[in-house]
Amino acid sequence: MDYDMILLRYGEITIKGKNRSKFEKAAYQHVNAVLSPFPKAKVIKEYGRLYVELNGEPLNEVIQVLKHVFGIVSISPVKRTLSELEPIIETAVQLMREMDPAEGTTFKVSAKRAWKGFPHGSQEMNHLVSAPVLREFEQLKVDVRKPAIDLRVEVREEWTYVYSEVVQGAGGFPLASNGRGVLLLSGGIDSPVAGYEALRKGLQLDAIHFHSYPFTSERAQRKVLDLAQVLANYAGRMRVHMVPFTDIQTRLHQSGHDNLLITLMRRAMLRIATQIAEQRNALAIVTGDSLGQVASQTLGSMNVIGRATDLPLLRPLVTVDKDKIIREAEYIGTYELSILPYEDCCTLFVPKSPATNPNLNIVEHAERSIPELDDLIKAAVEGTEAILLKAGGTPDDAIVLSGKDKDKAVSSNEPASVVKKANESGEQAAPATGDWF
Ligand code: ATP
Ligand code: MG
Repeated sequence: MDYDMILLRYGEITIKGKNRSKFEKAAYQHVNAVLSPFPKAKVIKEYGRLYVELNGEPLNEVIQVLKHVFGIVSISPVKRTLSELEPIIETAVQLMREMDPAEGTTFKVSAKRAWKGFPHGSQEMNHLVSAPVLREFEQLKVDVRKPAIDLRVEVREEWTYVYSEVVQGAGGFPLASNGRGVLLLSGGIDSPVAGYEALRKGLQLDAIHFHSYPFTSERAQRKVLDLAQVLANYAGRMRVHMVPFTDIQTRLHQSGHDNLLITLMRRAMLRIATQIAEQRNALAIVTGDSLGQVASQTLGSMNVIGRATDLPLLRPLVTVDKDKIIREAEYIGTYELSILPYEDCCTLFVPKSPATNPNLNIVEHAERSIPELDDLIKAAVEGTEAILLKAGGTPDDAIVLSGKDKDKAVSSNEPASVVKKANESGEQAAPATGDWF
C-alpha cells in the first residue's frame, strides 16, 4: 500500500486534561526519539494529534516503533491530498484499488468535514465519494453498520486525509508525564512486564535489583541488565540500582524462621527500595506481583509484606493471568531473556513450606530479634551500584554511577520533556533537558 503519512491519535484523557500541552510535548518528543533510526521521517505536531511524514521511510517498520509510544491510542497510515472534491475522490478510488477488495466485500465511506469552509457537508461527502468507488468496484457491497472496509475521509483546511486502517497504539500516558517510581526488577517473566505497564502509564522508572553475589552469578546480573535495557529502549533511559543482598539474606536465613524467610526477605527489599526511592524522589514502588501466583503473593502475604513501606505499592499485574503476562512479555521482547536459566537471589535457601498467611506480629518479632538488621539495610543501600542504560545502547557501554553522582536526588518539579531526536551522528535518544533521569 502506498501511504504518505501516519496519523497518531492521543487518548481522550491526554487531550482533554489540564496538562494537555505538557502531554502533547512529551509524546511529540517520544515519537521523535523512536524515529531516530528513520532520519527522513518528519514529525508534525498539530492540535490534538501528530502526523509522521514518511518521505520514503518504510511504513511497517515505522509503525512497529510507533506502537510503543505511550499515550498514543491508535495509528493510521493515511494518504494525503488537496482539500478539493476531485483529488479526494481520486485518492479514495486509488486507496480502494490498492486494497483490491474481494467479491462481496462490505464497505462504507465515513467522511468528516473538520474544515467548515469546505463546500460539501459530511453526509453529502459520503455519497459524493462512495458513488464513484461503487462504480469502479462492482464487487463491493455497502454496509453502514459493520463494514469490512471503513473508508475514512477527513477534510481539513490544509489537507484531506484518506485512510481505512486503524492500528492499536500503546495507549496510557505520554512518557514520564505522570511522576516517578521505582521498579523491583527480578530476572523473571513478570516484573519486566509490570515495568512496561508502569512506563506505559507515564511513570518514569528506576529499576532496583537485589543480587546475592557470589551465590548468584554475574551472568544472572547481566540477565537483569539485559532486561532493563529492553525497558530503557522504550523509556529513553533507565537507571538500574544493583543492591548487594547477600549479607541480609544470610542473616535472615540464620534467624531460623524458615517458613517466614521469603516474607522477611521481601520486607527487607521493600525497606531498601523505600530508601532508594526517597533518594530519587520517587513516590511509588512497582512490582510484578500477581495474586495467588506463589506463596509470597497471596493476599495475606502481600498484606504483611506491604506494611514494610509507607510508599504506595503498584502491582500492574495483580489480576492478570500468567498466559496473558507471557503474551505481553513476548510482545515487548523480554520473554526470551526472562526464561534464560540463571538463578535469582530468592531461589537461595528456599524454604520447604513458605508461609502463605504470615502473622504480622510474629514477623515483626522475628525482625526485632535481629538488632543489626537496620545497619545491614543501611549498608546494602550504601553499597548499591547504579548503572545508567540508554536507549539503543547495551549494558556494556552503560555508565556506572557511584558516590556523589549516584546519590544526587532529582528535583521533583523537573520538566516532563524527555528525549530529543538523535543528532546526525546517529546518537541515540538523549534527555532534552537537565538530568531528569
Ligand atoms: P518475576 O517473574 O517478576 O520474578 P515472580 O513470579 O518470580 O516474579 P516473585 O519471585 O515472588 O515472583 O517476586 C515477586 C516480585 O518481587 C517480582 O515481580 C519483583 O517485582 C520482586 N522481586 C523478586 N525478586 C527480586 C529481586 N531479586 N530483585 C528485585 N525485585 C525482585
Ligand atoms: Mg522471581
